[in-house]
Amino acid sequence: MLKQTIKTFVARLLGPSTRQTGLKRYTQEQHGIDKRMVSRHAVKVCEVLRDHGYEAYIVGGAVRDLIIGLEPKDFDVATNATPEQIRPLFRRARIIGRRFRLVHVVFGQEIIETSTFRAGDDAKQTDEHGRILRDNEFGSLEDDAARRDFTLNALYYDPLSETVVDYYNGVQDLKNNLVRIIGVAETRYREDPVRMLRAIRFAAKLDAQIESSTNAPIKKLAPLIENVPESRLFDETIKLLSCGHAMNCLTRLQAHGLHSKLLPMLDPVIALPDGKEFLSMALARTDSRIRTGKSSSPSFIYASLLWKLVRHNWQARIEQGEPTQPALVSAADEVIEQQSRIMSIQKRFQSDMREIWFMQPRFERINNRAIWRMIEQARFRAAVDFLQLRAEAKEVDSVMAQWWMDLANANDDTRLQMIEQRSSPRSTVGTRRRRTRKRPTHKLQSPS
Ligand code: ATP
Ligand code: MG
Repeated sequence: MLKQTIKTFVARLLGPSTRQTGLKRYTQEQHGIDKRMVSRHAVKVCEVLRDHGYEAYIVGGAVRDLIIGLEPKDFDVATNATPEQIRPLFRRARIIGRRFRLVHVVFGQEIIETSTFRAGDDAKQTDEHGRILRDNEFGSLEDDAARRDFTLNALYYDPLSETVVDYYNGVQDLKNNLVRIIGVAETRYREDPVRMLRAIRFAAKLDAQIESSTNAPIKKLAPLIENVPESRLFDETIKLLSCGHAMNCLTRLQAHGLHSKLLPMLDPVIALPDGKEFLSMALARTDSRIRTGKSSSPSFIYASLLWKLVRHNWQARIEQGEPTQPALVSAADEVIEQQSRIMSIQKRFQSDMREIWFMQPRFERINNRAIWRMIEQARFRAAVDFLQLRAEAKEVDSVMAQWWMDLANANDDTRLQMIEQRSSPRSTVGTRRRRTRKRPTHKLQSPS
């Protein structure tokens, strides 16, 4: 009794973001989720679990997106069944994860991530050495809601009754475009500083405000980002850049002082002539690709973010007499090395970025026979897209860039024709080389 009174008093003292609004249930008419937008595999998982006597809900980002009519990226299910109880119920299911185990239920291409309700971090009991006791990792539905990050991410949808269960007034916050942390903001960010980045991403993606007490401690706590493992930060940065609202995310990151660790190139790029314009153009292109359902690879995005620095360095080397291609390789090495001192980019992305960059000068001076080899390169398509971006930024001739785009889109017969016509006098590409290049013999033959 006394404990409860103290709890209520503390909650009042700490302000609105900590208020426990109590359980609410919304019917289909109230939440408006169109069941046709729900993955039938996620529904199946809930049905099977329910048939075996367990509770099961679709949870997290999918419910949030469904309520506002966006197509969810993926579907997660939360249940009171343990991983060992879940797995045998499905033909293709595997237990994954070490610290917190969950089950991947596989249906063809789709994976439904199914996890057991989790206890909140503060409910975890440790032994005298601080070790978390395993038995406490699972909790009730209410515990599971409490450990989630934002109210709009703590919604549970039961696809069978079509009800939404909401402990933290998440539906209202979602409708009011408010990103509100569950619990005390500072504590939740200290537990996991990535939540600050998530607040920004959801605000940008949902065109929402970050509620004031959720927003207030971010600037002060921004340096905590330094303690997060780099690989996790890299993944989160990719999510920020590919959420379809990249520019909005970057502006918000900068305003909160969160950008310098994640994207150390931003300040130096913006300081370059046209740097900011190039960034805006690159990110606008990425955003529009994503919003029209296309993908955008991390290597392409990073290749664009770093390009102005590479180009600047490359041009300086050329002015000092270095030959074009080796100068570009050295410029790329130097820029990547500088960037990696603060936040390294995974090796596999680095090699793709180099491939995209290194094809750029070749587009302007390649001879016809080498074009076929270039087409076969793994990142050819991305390099052509990159060339389009450079054309938009007026770095290269847009007719030339379009020729390469047409070539990338064409079948082999059309490609052959295009390449043959390329060296004809009327061609608009390769003009610099045409004067010195020997005409291919077949062009000299008179038609029989
Ligand atoms: P999206 O998939 O669109 O990026 P999401 O909300 O589904 O957004 P996920 O990373 O897939 O994000 O996480 C699923 C759910 O897990 C979230 O909705 C949230 O409830 C919870 N969650 C994820 N990360 C955290 C975190 N760092 N702290 C607390 N809860 C989290
Ligand atoms: Mg998700």
